[in-house]
Amino acid sequence: MIIVLSPEATPDDIHRIVARIEESGRQAHISTGTERSIIGVIGPDLPALQDMFETLPHVESVHRVTKPYKLVSREFRPQDSVIDVGRGVTVGGTELAVMAGPCSIENEDHIVETARAVKAAGANILRGGAFKPRTSPYNFRGLGEEGLRHLEVAGQVTNMPIVTELMSVRDIDAVARHADIIQIGARNMQNFILLDEVGKLRKPVLLKRGLSGFIEEWLLAAEYILAQGNPNVILCERGIRTFENAYRNTMDVNAIPLVKQLSHLPVVADPSHGTGKWKLVKPVSMASIAAGADGLMIEVHPNPDHALSDGAQSLTFESFTSMMRAVAGIASAVERTLSGVEAPAAAG
Ligand code: PEP
Ligand code: MN
Repeated sequence: MIIVLSPEATPDDIHRIVARIEESGRQAHISTGTERSIIGVIGPDLPALQDMFETLPHVESVHRVTKPYKLVSREFRPQDSVIDVGRGVTVGGTELAVMAGPCSIENEDHIVETARAVKAAGANILRGGAFKPRTSPYNFRGLGEEGLRHLEVAGQVTNMPIVTELMSVRDIDAVARHADIIQIGARNMQNFILLDEVGKLRKPVLLKRGLSGFIEEWLLAAEYILAQGNPNVILCERGIRTFENAYRNTMDVNAIPLVKQLSHLPVVADPSHGTGKWKLVKPVSMASIAAGADGLMIEVHPNPDHALSDGAQSLTFESFTSMMRAVAGIASAVERTLSGVEAPAAAG
């Protein structure tokens, strides 16, 4: 249930309403807006309770949320959430967020060189995997904590916040200590214990959509994190498994505008994993921004032929620079900005 308060409601009035909600054995989540505040009531919806809340002073209206997810829903928070990820960077505002870097951190020089190149091309967040989910146990599984240290150095040298994957509760302290944004990978979208644990932190969480995750399941996974008290969730569409095998995954561009309608959380697109082919990354990045994505996650490597993981979908520094210019052109058409990147001059 959602209680919309009148603009005159004072903090004391809100406090009294919250006390009534708690007396009924339910939880209250307050969302403070510029015009008016909204209180989300978490617990079973009963018509009698709705009637009772409607009689309280300064309650403008009471609505039942029909969706199974509550705190992540647009009904609960009509305005877009803007997530502060540190070093002056936000995700979800007018400015696009571009997270770029290698699939895996290979050594310190490699991540520092890549960080400098992606920053020069206009990226504002550095990505790199230290704990890698690999289909085969014999493939390179990342440098672990040593990789986190190299990533942190590269973030400091270039003054960019860093995002890296957490695969297990085992490594939560190490990842939270080094990273500005904790990535929950596609394979862990429904690892509910892991979601609970990152929900207990305040660190921003990048929650990727599962390989076969329904949109409702993805939003319910985000709900786990918010329900524990962490509102700083960024969703990431990274392609889903379909019958089509001409590329690695099918980038579900439809999901971007739909999720923006259903939820107030920012959504970024990952066309690297969404396509698996570097030649498709630029056009699908353009399509994702045109569809309303709040940013991108892009794999970039100094020498994709020699990458220890995901070389086939990684852009060179040169192709990343070219992609960023093309995206800047789309950004201005959809009233978004990409600071420091010049769009190509319009033809004719
Ligand atoms: C990654 O970002 O390198 C990754 C493994 O992504 P996903 O979880 O989307 O496969
Ligand atoms: Mn990868």
